[in-house]
Amino acid sequence: MQSKKFILSEKDIPQAWYNVVADMKNKPRPLINPGTKEPLKAEDLYPLFSKAASQQELNTTDRWIEIPDEVREMYRIWRPTPLVRAYGLEKYLDTPAHIYFKNESVSPVGSHKLNSAIAQAFYCKQEGVTNITTETGAGQWGAALSLAAKHFGLELAVYMVKISYEQKPYRRSIMQTYGAEVIASPSMSTKAGRKIITDHPNYQGSLGTAISEAVELAMSTPNCKYVLGSVLNHVALHQTVIGLEAERQMEMAGEMPDTVIACFGGGSNFSGISFPFLRYKLSGERDTRFIAAEPASCPKLTRGVFQYDFGDEAGYTPLIPMYTLGHNFSPANIHAGGLRYHGAGSVISQLKHDGLIDAVDIPQLETFEAATIFARTEGIIPAPESSHAIAATIREAKQAREEGKSKVILFNLSGHGLIDMTAYDRYYSNDLANYEVSQEEIDNNVKNLEKII
Ligand SMILES: *Cc1c(COP(=O)(O)O)cnc(C)c1O
Repeated sequence: MQSKKFILSEKDIPQAWYNVVADMKNKPRPLINPGTKEPLKAEDLYPLFSKAASQQELNTTDRWIEIPDEVREMYRIWRPTPLVRAYGLEKYLDTPAHIYFKNESVSPVGSHKLNSAIAQAFYCKQEGVTNITTETGAGQWGAALSLAAKHFGLELAVYMVKISYEQKPYRRSIMQTYGAEVIASPSMSTKAGRKIITDHPNYQGSLGTAISEAVELAMSTPNCKYVLGSVLNHVALHQTVIGLEAERQMEMAGEMPDTVIACFGGGSNFSGISFPFLRYKLSGERDTRFIAAEPASCPKLTRGVFQYDFGDEAGYTPLIPMYTLGHNFSPANIHAGGLRYHGAGSVISQLKHDGLIDAVDIPQLETFEAATIFARTEGIIPAPESSHAIAATIREAKQAREEGKSKVILFNLSGHGLIDMTAYDRYYSNDLANYEVSQEEIDNNVKNLEKII
């Protein structure tokens, strides 16, 4: 292991987030009201989200949005994060490619999620909100928001997908340590939860259901807002600190990436590392390739349809123009944790539709093989989610070797896997299998979507 780190100082923490929508020639289609089919205005979102988040969500004109001092102050706990040249991995793969990774696993909760959690909690606090609520799948988002809520003095209730609540007790304990209330979803505390429990008594939960519960709680509780950890434009915006720092660090390294790779759940870490580099592609200055790596068991970008769909199971959210597997899609019980969401955000979906970004889907066993190689060559045990990005990087690096061509690859290490060792255990005991969704299952799920596009 002879990896080289590129380190920025605290004063280099970006002053503003980058809003890619301002530079897109084809803007994403608008979010629409499911009842009236009218495009949403920021005011329509105020009952649900903070005003600042609502405005950022629909902002198509400002390229740069200032990061509040209180947020930058919190970022200083672990930002700027290191950029690393992965010499160990390059050597192992015997590739002419130069491989770099941005290490977002160094945050106190071990993932990139804190970048947006802090911003969203801050805006709620600033607007006089006292309570917030959210959902979490594998628990990383819930953990990040618990810390942010505690810092800004907000009460937080987290709906955690039941199967994770039972199988991932440590993330639940992390949330409790930071002072959040954690409820297994589906629960009897909401109409949406009660309905699904009575219809399907053994239902193990899904992100879509947990979102419905959190949205319902926020809409029916005074002074309570809903906070989301991925998919939406304002979340992607907050994550651009990743790519903005990486750009400075690549300058220090004296090269720029030909290929940028990140794993893809709802798109927040992919957007975070990609959008700052994408601005040079949109302006025609550079021809960078962007690859979103998703699980073969939840392949919305590679196999989903481009259509308006709900962000949640019960259909409480606005209609979002997205690549989707259908909002009732319930992925197989795979270990990709945070990558089990049915759709992609509107910006990413438009970029994909316009051919500006690519996607690949990766079978489960390949991700754990890549994770093991990475741990042994670079020393960091990656999150199962991040391992999808590593697997895609290894594919690219092997291809460079076969073609005898050098290229520069940058991937985002979205988190570490130290709380996911149960999944590794199962991999080493040959207890994990590949799972691919059948075309029939996808067709069945999307056939009821209203054909708005
Ligand atoms: C949540 C999570 C993801 C997936 O979410 P995105 O919004 O697609 O980034 C990926 N990696 C880690 C470590 C996560 O916690």
